[in-house]
Amino acid sequence: MTTTRFAPSPTGFIHVGNLRTALFNHLIARKAGGTFILRIDDTDPERSKEEYVDAIKRDLEWLGLTWDRIERQSERLDMYAEAADKLREMGRFYEAFETPTELDLKRKKQLNMGKPPVYDRAALGLGEDEKAALRAERGDGVWRFKLDQERISWVDGILGDLSIDAASVSDPVLIRADGQVLYTIASVVDDTDMGVTHVVRGSDHVTNTATQIQIIEALGGTVPAFAHHSLLTGPQGEALSKRLGTLALRDLREQGVEPEALLSLMARLGSSQPVELRMSLDEIAEGFDLDHFGSAPTKFDEQDLFPLTARKLQGLELADVADEIAALGIPAELAGPFWNVVRDNITIRNDLGDWWSVFRDGASPLIDDDDRAFVAQAFELLAEPPYAPEAWSTWTNAVKEATGRKGKKLFMPLRKAVTGRERGPEMADVLPLMQVKPGLKS
Ligand code: GLU
Repeated sequence: MTTTRFAPSPTGFIHVGNLRTALFNHLIARKAGGTFILRIDDTDPERSKEEYVDAIKRDLEWLGLTWDRIERQSERLDMYAEAADKLREMGRFYEAFETPTELDLKRKKQLNMGKPPVYDRAALGLGEDEKAALRAERGDGVWRFKLDQERISWVDGILGDLSIDAASVSDPVLIRADGQVLYTIASVVDDTDMGVTHVVRGSDHVTNTATQIQIIEALGGTVPAFAHHSLLTGPQGEALSKRLGTLALRDLREQGVEPEALLSLMARLGSSQPVELRMSLDEIAEGFDLDHFGSAPTKFDEQDLFPLTARKLQGLELADVADEIAALGIPAELAGPFWNVVRDNITIRNDLGDWWSVFRDGASPLIDDDDRAFVAQAFELLAEPPYAPEAWSTWTNAVKEATGRKGKKLFMPLRKAVTGRERGPEMADVLPLMQVKPGLKS
């Protein structure tokens, strides 16, 4: 059975880059009728926070990316210890005592000599007495996995044939000196134990994948299908890493982005398929295929989320927004006309409130200096509300008669003075919604 997982570390809020990983894995499981696991990678007790676990769940629920199972690595430490013992028995695990400074020095020397900075396996040559002496002096060492120095190959679901020479990779540290189990082994144990069949993650994990394939094989597990999606960049191709903090899903939600807009964009961005608004995950899953994605970095512009958000809102029925409209204090009999008038002129839901305040209190008028006298004269010709459906044409006819203005020179200054904006719904529809007489000051 197809089983995928999204495995965030709860050390921060999840952002658009994480969403790509979550969404791809969710869609693969959904399309196959399989299982999607939310795995919380919380082996680091210092950096993992419960507040982030809650926030991750909230973000995923907001998007409808619900999980069939939730697992926490902090509750599975015994299993990782068992796997570590197994590797130790097999002679694939060794203790190393170099300090970070020593390792750094080694790396610098190698680089100076034009060599790749790969750990030199000096610790493999230590006798038991030497290890005991080092342990007495420095405390416990780290535990490294001894890679088989051969090529590690796999067919990547996005990148195609990949092969990495294990000799160019340092033996990965799987357990820290303080005993903390690291992600590299915990993830492998979980993927094997939970029957994960497909792992999609960012291309920053390609080297991890190579080492993890050897660890899985050493532990007798089945290697899942791996796929690595390209990393997101900004609109100009600039690295997004520094800005990802401001692209947290909760921030986008705060800014009024609709979940369907975010999902529709992220499910197609970087693929050969066009981005189109889709209203459900099933629809999104239908056309989804990893084959459509390429290895080139994917440009992401958060501004693209707003036209999609607007399109989603335009498609809503009154019943879908009735509660929000009522919450703004809009009288029930005005709800229908209000929605019909503003639906094509909002980008986010919050714009509803802005329009309502224009209708309820009047706008801050936008008046060009040249139009000031004209607008003042026009307002004198306008009666008090309520305004009938024909009020706009009655008014503008009277203004035309009195001032001689017509066409755009007549209508545009009035639109800007009444609504405080250059664009908006038909003025003939706006006027009947006005609860106060528009004026030169709001
Ligand atoms: N916790 C890891 C991360 O967030 C998971 C990577 C993976 O999907 O294996 O990078």
